[in-house]
Amino acid sequence: MTFGIRNLVGIHRLHTGQENYSTPLIFKTYSQWSYWQRKAFDYLIWCHVAHALDFSAALLCWLWIFPITFPQAHEWHIKWVSQVFLYNLACEFIIYSFWHWLTYGRTSPYAQGPLKEKKFNSTNPYDDKKQDHLLREVTFTTLGWLQSAFVQCVFMWLWASGRLPYYYDFWSRPFFSIFILLAVTFWREFHFYWIHRFMHPWWSVKNGLSQGDIGAFLYRHCHSLHHKSRNPGPWSGLSMHPVEHFFYYTCAYFPLLFACHPLHFLYAKFHADIAPIGGHDGFDDPAGGGDFHYLHHAFFECNYGVPLIDFDRLFGTWKDYVRKPSVDAKRED
Ligand SMILES: [Zn+2]
Ligand SMILES: [Zn+2]
Repeated sequence: MTFGIRNLVGIHRLHTGQENYSTPLIFKTYSQWSYWQRKAFDYLIWCHVAHALDFSAALLCWLWIFPITFPQAHEWHIKWVSQVFLYNLACEFIIYSFWHWLTYGRTSPYAQGPLKEKKFNSTNPYDDKKQDHLLREVTFTTLGWLQSAFVQCVFMWLWASGRLPYYYDFWSRPFFSIFILLAVTFWREFHFYWIHRFMHPWWSVKNGLSQGDIGAFLYRHCHSLHHKSRNPGPWSGLSMHPVEHFFYYTCAYFPLLFACHPLHFLYAKFHADIAPIGGHDGFDDPAGGGDFHYLHHAFFECNYGVPLIDFDRLFGTWKDYVRKPSVDAKRED
């Protein structure tokens, strides 16, 4: 489940009839490598490169928005706060709308081409009769971005006012800086699995708080909103109840525990903002390729995590995606 430049290249390759459309960019012999060579490449290099778009949004924020806003951030003021919010909302609408247009748009040549065959569920979740569905997803996705922008403002204020330690020169601690940056991807997968599992019934969906099943309670009142998207699309990933957004974005709260660079926080935040597109766009490789999470939306009690860290195999909730009639028959909108 990736989303970014590699997917764009892959979709273009597929559209123009090239056979190696799912090969990672320049690594054209990837499919001929041994199992361990591919695993080493995936875990050491590809899992980071695949999030180049998330990192680019974070880097641009650091290089462009921070110099404008951070010197004023020691005090709350509408000017710098609105600049931070505007940058975040611009990122949301440019990236999400572009991916929506590319994969579903009537005027998109790619959406009308061979990519159609890669859709897990052939129904378009955003066709004319389902505008209320689109409106719900856009609304809750925007609430997610607003919450993460607010969290960004809070951290900027904490750092700028001296309430929280941090360091400004990334290269003053080169090994630590790079290590934390590379750890973000793995931390996000670990955090996502447990937060997500936490919000599904711990024992039975029939339970409530009186049975001590906090998961069943949270599922009923919060996470079920995310699961209204049985046939997910690009806007489904962040379409969550604000309480779930709160739990979800705690992945970027680690600067409360140790002094880090603002770019570490920004990468985790934009990773959480943008990466869900890949897991939810509803298409197989070379688009998002989120077959694993597609099954979670179709069947609920499986595939809570992301395959990079195999918690689902460990805890017996793994479900492999196989194109067969029994799977197709259960697909719903
Ligand atoms: Zn779920
Ligand atoms: Zn989902």
